[in-house]
Amino acid sequence: MFEKILIANRGEIALRIHRACKEMGIATVAVHSTADAKAMHVRLADESVCIGPPPSAKSYLHIPSIISAAEITHAQAVHPGYGFLSENARFAEIVEAHGLTFIGPRPAHIRLMGDKIAAKKAVLSAGIPCVPGSDGSIATVQEARRVAGEIGYPVLVKAAAGGGGRGMKVARSPEQLAEAFSTARSEARTAFGDDSVYLEKYLDKPRHIEIQVIADSHGNVVHLGERDCSLQRRHQKVLEEAPSPALNAQERAKIGEIVAAAIRKLGYLGVGTIEFLWAEGKFYFIEMNTRLQVEHPVTEMITGVDLVREQIRIANGARLSFTQDEVQFNGWAMECRVNAEDPQTFAPSPGRITEFHAPGGLGVRLDSAIYTGYDIPPYYDSLIGKLIVSGRSREECILRMRRALGEMVVGGVKTTIPLFQRLLKEPDILDGNYNIHWLEEYLKR
Ligand code: ADP
Repeated sequence: MFEKILIANRGEIALRIHRACKEMGIATVAVHSTADAKAMHVRLADESVCIGPPPSAKSYLHIPSIISAAEITHAQAVHPGYGFLSENARFAEIVEAHGLTFIGPRPAHIRLMGDKIAAKKAVLSAGIPCVPGSDGSIATVQEARRVAGEIGYPVLVKAAAGGGGRGMKVARSPEQLAEAFSTARSEARTAFGDDSVYLEKYLDKPRHIEIQVIADSHGNVVHLGERDCSLQRRHQKVLEEAPSPALNAQERAKIGEIVAAAIRKLGYLGVGTIEFLWAEGKFYFIEMNTRLQVEHPVTEMITGVDLVREQIRIANGARLSFTQDEVQFNGWAMECRVNAEDPQTFAPSPGRITEFHAPGGLGVRLDSAIYTGYDIPPYYDSLIGKLIVSGRSREECILRMRRALGEMVVGGVKTTIPLFQRLLKEPDILDGNYNIHWLEEYLKR
């Protein structure tokens, strides 16, 4: 097993990885920008290296500094977490070229799934159902009109290099298509430096349901069921739950088997998430994330599998420690993404945390790197903690989440806790009756 791992990330996910390492007897190296010198991921790590100034481009995204940090500390492997360099195939190659192990999929798979057009083609041929759309990228408005005419309006223009919901525009008619096409292209150019776009049928009221998979280097692939991430704002997930209130055991087993078989066919390695839109009993692939997801704890809570531990074992060449038949889904879990933001306007609220109390008790988990006196820097995303709760039933889980939210105190900055307190009283949420647009509509009320 590795003796020392460098964690190329910050915040709660750096801590999450650190925790798995410690339980496996592995030493950790934290990297940090000057803005994070006092961060908890740095304080808890066995060693730490400052890799640059606050802007991510000069620190957490700066590959030479991260590689140097791994070399001077004699780390044997690099865990990228999520975000930052986690889906950068070039980074994975550079890590490997320096004789280090990248804890993640092979660079070829990262690259394949990072190109959404190529990804769709690959998974479709491996048997995964996709949203109807263009076969490849679309170069002109005329071509977009022709394809849209075939698949039928409304359509969605999407960036091939997309991520974070950017470079995505809906057109409900041929008249709207020209503008949607040029806006999506220019957004894609600005955000990703690549203006290739493609077209997809726009599904009006789908749910977002994703399947967690894990594959070792010996050909074993297991799925760990689904997460329902339909509660979104600006295409960003806000609250996730597992299982999905929309699926029954047969539907879960069926999509899980389809996905696991496809992932086996693709020769994938590591953890991955296959994201689907789900409407009227049908699944439509939208993308695959080749990394650990923010919301992975809800799966851990209902399966008891430590996904980070498995990631590290697999990267070290071990076999998966369980088979598909051994995976059991117990009860219900939910995650609230607590952001340092105004709960009404969602304006970021960085600053000093003057008071902090973590909720606890049976079935309550808080993945967070904050502490009293911590200064939330303004340079990074506003996620300050994930409150994850499980219960024997969905009802118990919701009651427990309300109780845990009520106990949690974060003073000095604004947080989204009050939003979750409101949401968990809404009849539609209590009934599991929501789709990807529900939250946006609710926030306009
Ligand atoms: P990104 O990589 O930018 O996050 P995704 O393809 O994962 O892009 O899509 C993000 C979100 O956008 C989805 O969760 C869903 O809410 C919405 N979306 C994507 N494709 C479609 C579609 N064909 N129809 C309706 N909504 C969609």
